[in-house]
Amino acid sequence: RGSCASDSSDSVISTSSEADSQVYKVVLLGEHGVGKSSLARVFGGVEDAGHDCDEAGNTYDRSIVVDEEEASIVLYDIWEQDNSQWLKDQCMRMGDAYIIVYSVTDKSSFEKASELRIQLRRARQSENIPIILVGNKSDLVRSREVSVDEGSACAVVFDCKFIETSASLHHNVQDLFEGIVRQIRLRKDSKEE
Ligand code: GDP
Ligand code: MG
Repeated sequence: RGSCASDSSDSVISTSSEADSQVYKVVLLGEHGVGKSSLARVFGGVEDAGHDCDEAGNTYDRSIVVDEEEASIVLYDIWEQDNSQWLKDQCMRMGDAYIIVYSVTDKSSFEKASELRIQLRRARQSENIPIILVGNKSDLVRSREVSVDEGSACAVVFDCKFIETSASLHHNVQDLFEGIVRQIRLRKDSKEE
């Protein structure tokens, strides 16, 4: 318990056919300190995370049931694993979906989120990849620097979804990941038609 092992044991392996067994790769992006690893740990069900979890990047493997259908997600918290351009490029290429996180208490992290959105668009020009802009630390009411309206307006401009979360209170974290799955499915379905 409390380890940073890559697969949390609650992931259920379904015995269903190829069509359902697809694994979605979801990549966390965002400035240092905005709460990427905290969100990832909530998602992965790692509660009592020790300090050893902070250094290296981690990958979390979990199946969740969304709209009565199971989906497997591998969540990559590796954006800050090292400072190599190679890794950053790799991150921009590998995801089936992206979570761009900023902190509502840090305006500059919000500006950084816009930059990341632009980089992502450049890297994946012709693709319509699901992206969710996340304003984390919504519990820190008194040190808020970015309003809900600013966040959602930014998401409109960048043509992506938006949600505010609190990793500390586990608020909206489940909704975030369910939203990701729904977005991936929507785009997959429209491609298949
Ligand atoms: P990362 O650098 O993006 O991976 O950010 P971390 O997950 O390491 O979080 C940075 C700091 O913000 C840590 O001290 C967390 O405990 C804190 N933090 C993360 N999410 C929240 C949140 O939703 N609310 C509050 N109050 N603190 C948070
Ligand atoms: Mg981190």
